[in-house]
Amino acid sequence: MVSIQELATFCKKKGFIYRNAEIYGGMAGFFDLGHLGVELNNNIKQELWKRFVQAREDVVGIDGSLMSPEIVFKASGHLESFTDIMLECSKCKKKIRADEIIEEETHIDAEGKSVDDILTIIKDNKLKCPSCGGGFKEPEHFNLMFKSEVGAKEGNLAYLRPETAQSIFTNFKLVYDNARMKLPFGIAQTGKAFRNEISPRDFLFRCREFEQFEIEFFCHPDKLNDCLGYNKIKSLEFNYFDGKKQKKAKISDLKASKWHAYWLAEFYRFFLELGLSKDKLRITKHNKEKLAHYAAACFDIEYKFPFGWKEIHGNADRKQFDLTQHSKLSKNDMSIFDEETKQKIVPYVASEPSQGIGRAFLAFMFDAYDDDKKRGNIVLHLHPKLAPVKVGVFPLVNKLDKEAKAVYDMLKDEFTCIYDRSGSVGRRYARADEAGVPFCCTIDFDSQKDKSITIRDKNSTKQVRVKISEIKETVRKLLEGEKLENVGKLVK
Ligand code: ATP
Repeated sequence: MVSIQELATFCKKKGFIYRNAEIYGGMAGFFDLGHLGVELNNNIKQELWKRFVQAREDVVGIDGSLMSPEIVFKASGHLESFTDIMLECSKCKKKIRADEIIEEETHIDAEGKSVDDILTIIKDNKLKCPSCGGGFKEPEHFNLMFKSEVGAKEGNLAYLRPETAQSIFTNFKLVYDNARMKLPFGIAQTGKAFRNEISPRDFLFRCREFEQFEIEFFCHPDKLNDCLGYNKIKSLEFNYFDGKKQKKAKISDLKASKWHAYWLAEFYRFFLELGLSKDKLRITKHNKEKLAHYAAACFDIEYKFPFGWKEIHGNADRKQFDLTQHSKLSKNDMSIFDEETKQKIVPYVASEPSQGIGRAFLAFMFDAYDDDKKRGNIVLHLHPKLAPVKVGVFPLVNKLDKEAKAVYDMLKDEFTCIYDRSGSVGRRYARADEAGVPFCCTIDFDSQKDKSITIRDKNSTKQVRVKISEIKETVRKLLEGEKLENVGKLVK
């Protein structure tokens, strides 16, 4: 597998990802999307939104503000509990996340451990600063939220949201009434989240600004197992890591409510259907120490990166925690009258699928990256739905520019296209392979006579001859998964 440094270099060179403010040396944990990156990122978000919001009757979306007043995070518990334990070197003053250095040096999973436990592990293992070998000061809690003051008046504290979820909870009653929802139902949101990570690292994996797609799925507290879709996914097989070893398991083996298991399975399927390798995906369950302050249970979907198995998706049972808290602090009753049971209840979040867009981006890129020695170039095997550019259009020689431009003009309204006329056709194919373009159309000297062009499939490099008048329909079919040999005559 390509290393993270090689992938970051490739992403910069091809226009996927740049370091923010690179001309000034960059700022750790902040990235900008380039011309291909923005398309891939949008495609990931669009696939999530289409599948989990627009195609479902039981989920609606919102788009909340990035900042909220302090009281919101007091209610949600983030002010008090959204912390990591930090170590500071007494000599060089470097600050590092305690659980990360412990895991690196001792392979002990220290996420969620108390300050006292951390201190003991450091002493027992004689851990020192990795930069200068100095000793550490006492471990401290460090709150990960970015704090700000709003307006000219002092003391009006607000925070950038560390997760998109809270505006779903604060708007819960409005959405419930205005969208006329009935339990069980979900509210979804895609947007930025901010965490002042102590040590941002591993490229897009741990950033200080990132995007999430989250759903809060609300149920009647006594009906967490009334899930019609469960039967369809209960036999789904996956790799399960129980904290000690990895084994095969089925969704029905998980100790979770049916709604919780259902949503976890739906996201696992999302990754599989968009092409991630099954052997590089697994599901894990959080032990009690690791659980967030609001959660009763939590599963992660992990991907096998070159730097280890790491979480790309978190899925928590958030109980009635958030709505209860917001009822208390806002003095607005967040309970609802459930028509079916004729009960007044606080809805229960059976599942909160929380999907980081950047981590999905990274997993898709790692999985797609193929240094094809035979072709002599990188080939990005991204699923056509995710590919930043769907079609490349090339004139064989510049003399055919007019005819090729006409094909490009036909396609560009419906598909993201590139038009490339520089260098040999081989070079142009290689450039398209590196950008993950699934299909390329070449207009040659025969095109004027037979009113046809050649379509090349990036994965197989096979080519077919297709009528220009049918090109739009053909590309549409190919992008939907039709086999190349079914849309035209194979060219030798
Ligand atoms: P980790 O244990 O890696 O810090 P977490 O458990 O704090 O992650 P969650 O709070 O469950 O993460 O966040 C949900 C999702 O948001 C994660 O699965 C991930 O995809 C994304 N995410 C969280 N923190 C970051 C970050 N710093 N950079 C990029 N994505 C992130």
